[in-house]
Amino acid sequence: MALYVYKFGGTSVGSVERIKSVAEKVKKVQDQGDQIIVVLSAMSGETNRLIALAKQMQTQPTDREMDVLISTGEQVTVALLCMALHELGCKATSYTGTQVKILTDSAFTKARIREIEDIKIRADLDGGKIVVVAGFQGVDEQGNITTLGRGGSDTTAVALAAALKADECHIYTDVDGVYTTDPRVEPKARRLNHITFEEMLEMASLGSKVLQIRSVEFAGKYNVALRVLSSFKEGCGTLITYEESQMESALISGIAFNRDEAKLTITGVPDLPGVAYKILGPIADANIEVDMIVQNIADDATTDFTFTVDRNNYQRAKAILEESCVELGARKVTGDNAIVKVSIVGVGMRSHAGIASMMFKTLASEGINIRMIATSEIKISVVVDEKYLELAVRALHAAFELDQITAEA
Ligand code: ADP
Ligand code: ASP
Ligand code: MG
Repeated sequence: MALYVYKFGGTSVGSVERIKSVAEKVKKVQDQGDQIIVVLSAMSGETNRLIALAKQMQTQPTDREMDVLISTGEQVTVALLCMALHELGCKATSYTGTQVKILTDSAFTKARIREIEDIKIRADLDGGKIVVVAGFQGVDEQGNITTLGRGGSDTTAVALAAALKADECHIYTDVDGVYTTDPRVEPKARRLNHITFEEMLEMASLGSKVLQIRSVEFAGKYNVALRVLSSFKEGCGTLITYEESQMESALISGIAFNRDEAKLTITGVPDLPGVAYKILGPIADANIEVDMIVQNIADDATTDFTFTVDRNNYQRAKAILEESCVELGARKVTGDNAIVKVSIVGVGMRSHAGIASMMFKTLASEGINIRMIATSEIKISVVVDEKYLELAVRALHAAFELDQITAEA
């Protein structure tokens, strides 16, 4: 007898009919004699709707109250699924994060899971019940409701799979696996049969929202067999593995992009020790995360300093930088919040030279100006103007022959 954790995302539970078909799918697992824990998201659009409601009450609601509010969407779907299962004659019980209990830290809206109690779940499974758990939420030591960040139901599922030593964790979504890039941007994107944890982690952290980053970290750390599949279409999906890609010749595995980027530049900064700290210190103190950083020395013993931040933090970061500009006696601050980051990812890069130049050549031949570049062992990221996003992704997809990848069944 195997134990499975199945997670269904927002679109997969977006209507009464869809919840009913999830119930049918779940019942099949039990009918074949296996045990199953189901993790659900809120109905599609629900979390956004709740966030919009909050904004109508207060411009800056407290994170604690936000979590009390946005955790409700998942409570609705778990109850509805249990009703659908009961209707099919199955024994099933729903649990909120608090009821399980999924213990987290107190970082509201981005809490981390510390521990999962498995007593009730085990007892239910052993009693022949289907266990249905609300994704995305937990509870802190003080009993406050917390949430795990957008897309957090993926992490709930993987964490439960790790805690209960499930045989497999299936993430059911509206695409039939992990693709070479977001199929909404490049229709020629191909499904990958396998992708390594390392690559998936890069893809997720560089903007591919198909899996929440923390879920991939968790799966890698606790050795959870993780698969992404479609709720609507039969198929084997994409397995996240430890092994290198089966496709020996593939130079890169995928293209990720992030639209939520903005960049800031401070020019004419006196080039002295401690300058980077003086510029970035106040930004960090304001809890603003900095991603790429570039510093360039000019002829006149001054330096230009550019960095990127999340677009939501652009105005705040710019105001802080303008203060630093006066303090440092720098020339001026400029910024641009209509930029995006496009990245190519692949373990194949380690053993192949010339990948970066091929990327730059491809972008140049499309007349796309590269504003910033960052590289690591298995990825190359460029910042380009927002209007070039689709063009850049499609050109790179073709240049690296990602549309030629054949995922064997
Ligand atoms: P769910 O609600 O099921 O959690 P998400 O919207 O969070 O679904 O994730 C699925 C979406 O991720 C897809 O519809 C697709 O547009 C997007 N996506 C981005 N990058 C990729 C990729 N490389 N492969 C597959 N899907 C991707
Ligand atoms: N409902 C939450 C969100 O929309 C969590 C999830 O779907 O994974 O972000
Ligand atoms: Mg998701």
